[in-house]
Amino acid sequence: MPTTTDLSFSELRYRRLFEAAHDGILIVDPETRKIIDVNPFLEKFLGYTYEEFIGKELFEIGLLADEAANQAAFQELRKDGYIRYEDLPLRTKDGRSVDVEFVSNIYQEGDQQVIQCNIRDISARKKIENELHETKEKLAGHAAELESVVVFRTAELRLSNMQLETFVYSIAHDLRAPLRTMQGFAQLLAQEHATSLNQQGREYANFINAAAQTMDHLLADLLAFSHISQQKIELVPVAVADVIEDALSACQIDIQRSQARIKNILPWPTVMAHATTLRQVLVNLLGNALKFVATEAPQIRLWSEERPGGTVRIWVEDNGIGIPAEFQEKIFQVFQRLHTTSYAGTGIGLAIVQKGMERMSGLVGVVSAPGEGSKFWIELVKAPAPLIEPPSKGVKTS
Ligand code: ADP
Repeated sequence: MPTTTDLSFSELRYRRLFEAAHDGILIVDPETRKIIDVNPFLEKFLGYTYEEFIGKELFEIGLLADEAANQAAFQELRKDGYIRYEDLPLRTKDGRSVDVEFVSNIYQEGDQQVIQCNIRDISARKKIENELHETKEKLAGHAAELESVVVFRTAELRLSNMQLETFVYSIAHDLRAPLRTMQGFAQLLAQEHATSLNQQGREYANFINAAAQTMDHLLADLLAFSHISQQKIELVPVAVADVIEDALSACQIDIQRSQARIKNILPWPTVMAHATTLRQVLVNLLGNALKFVATEAPQIRLWSEERPGGTVRIWVEDNGIGIPAEFQEKIFQVFQRLHTTSYAGTGIGLAIVQKGMERMSGLVGVVSAPGEGSKFWIELVKAPAPLIEPPSKGVKTS
């Protein structure tokens, strides 16, 4: 080790930096490839004394121990003047394995060349990296586990939903027969035994009849809801104009009775849908538009709007009583009704609309304010344009 008295001022300054450095530094003779100097940090880090370092080749202190790697490193160093290994395993004198970053430069010092190797301990960084990697793997494992639990639970829920829907269907179906009997006998009482009943008796029979009718509507709607939830649905191109015509004729009696004015605004597109379900959805929306008016005759506008992303909205606008914003989501749930006293209904109509749209991979919504009418919309994917065959040559077309 050079003593400080042998050194010039700048050499002394370099020496102090060399000795105080918190990275290992080795100086190697490129001709002999032997270590000619080493700083105290590396002595402590690898556990060799200064004397043990001096005169050794790198592989002897566990650096670039593989012969081929050693040759390649020196060749690269001569060619580029620089080599860098981000992550190199190194063995200390007492046999521990440590990870280091190794940077080496070759440069001219007076009339001779020297190699300087900087060795940085990266064990702490590697430890954090490994822990991070393990944590990420654990997290990925947990996420996969969670995902499979969600898939399993969803399947379970779907199954119990289906069982419930089947249950509702069979109850609604089976309740109808005794109900019809009750309704029939109540009617018989009111009609054929009217003379033997007093006024109150006739009223009671009529009450039974009216209640049975309400219950029958409820059961019919429940059956429709179950049916729309369970039936097999295949989406095919459907001409909306035809379904609108169909839905309007299904509502014809109510249209006439309420003296409604209907504006059917053309053109109508072709959408990917299930015609019967779409018809049911439109009948329910039209039925509500005809029903929820104050005193004036209903005015209903029907039109379509192309949306970005290849979908189409079908709008059903009325001039009715409107719906406050806070109820606009709720009314799509089963049995949610706002206007229970003044308007007849079961509270299932919009649930059928929503279920139908869900089954057709579509959307439904409403824009409304009290006293300003309502605009219900449904959204479906537009059907692709049909391929038009080019006329074959030589054939005259008219
Ligand atoms: P129902 O018509 O049998 O009451 P729906 O499920 O069709 O049941 O509708 C739920 C509720 O949403 C209705 O009771 C009513 O309060 C409100 N509603 C639906 N459509 C309209 C509309 N066009 N205008 C105003 N309110 C409406």
